[in-house]
Amino acid sequence: MSRDFNLRLKELLPDLIISEQELMSKHTTFRIGGPADLYIAPKANQIADVVNLCRQFGMPFFIIGNGSNLLVSDKGIRGVVIEIGKNCRELHVEGQTMKAQAGVPLATLAAEACKHGLTGLEFASGIPGCLGGALVMNAGAYGGEMKQVVTEAVCLDEEGKEKILLPDELEFGYRSSIFTKKKYIALSATMKLSEGKSAEIRDRMNELNTQRRAKQPLEFPSAGSTFKRPEGYFAGKLIMDAGLAGYCVGGACVSEKHCGFVINKGGATATDVKRLMEDVDRIVKEKFGVGLEPEVKLIGEF
Ligand SMILES: Cc1cc2nc3c(=O)[nH]c(=O)nc-3n(C[C@H](O)[C@H](O)[C@H](O)COP(=O)(O)OP(=O)(O)OC[C@H]3O[C@@H](n4cnc5c(N)ncnc54)[C@H](O)[C@@H]3O)c2cc1C
Repeated sequence: MSRDFNLRLKELLPDLIISEQELMSKHTTFRIGGPADLYIAPKANQIADVVNLCRQFGMPFFIIGNGSNLLVSDKGIRGVVIEIGKNCRELHVEGQTMKAQAGVPLATLAAEACKHGLTGLEFASGIPGCLGGALVMNAGAYGGEMKQVVTEAVCLDEEGKEKILLPDELEFGYRSSIFTKKKYIALSATMKLSEGKSAEIRDRMNELNTQRRAKQPLEFPSAGSTFKRPEGYFAGKLIMDAGLAGYCVGGACVSEKHCGFVINKGGATATDVKRLMEDVDRIVKEKFGVGLEPEVKLIGEF
């Protein structure tokens, strides 16, 4: 099956580079994850063909952007990993409107907006994801979130048809969107920004990124905030108050700089991180009666 699929994929898209047994640790900011059976990074105009072929062959597939919100199992991912990233990076600015393909990094979007004297994306400049992943997660920071700027997104629906989604159809919530509920694939989005002054926008981005470096353990691999914010609480504070700062399982540790982050101190496995997350959830529940829901997506078999 996999061989036939491979052959058909090569016939259909001869210029596509197909990597077999590709280590996902190379594609996640946690630097953790076993092999994907097949790994490809199609161009924007090849995504629909790839997805349709997967469906035709009953081949499971998983979409990734920059892998900055993922914990991939040590056993890896069965089927095809489709990166909507480095080969989907077109970006156009017209007036106060920015249109970008899903693989554009948020830092690039923010820098481009700043260059054009457009305000509204400063919050995103330090989030290490791509636009597609940010739409899925309704990424946000420092009072900003994707919901505030996105006016339209183009996606592939469950039948592989292109569909335009307007703001009310995107169902943005706290770290959720229509993409976390339906198996839609984000291809591109349009964002409406406001006129501002480039120097002020740059200063604000620098200020936010300085705050990030001071408060977050950016010197270690991680996937950002491990848990969602439970209503009325901060996950990091609960974890710190439970006495878990610096608590480790193997190479995975609760950051002492920011207890909301699990970091890979070196050689952490996905199993280490998962066990650590379970311990943290259990201990916080015992002490404070509050459950912690992962923000990080656990992918593959655990
Ligand atoms: C140091 C650090 C700091 C962070 N700070 C923040 C922060 O301040 N705020 C915040 O919100 N997040 C933060 N994050 C988390 C992460 O960067 C965001 O969730 C980001 O939006 C994920 O984007 P990604 O491209 O890396 O997605 P991935 O991690 O690759 O994927 C995330 C999910 O989206 C899906 N997906 C990705 N692309 C597509 C697509 N095109 N179509 C359909 N599904 C897709 C994947 O299947 C997966 O379910 C941080 C992470 C790190 C490592």
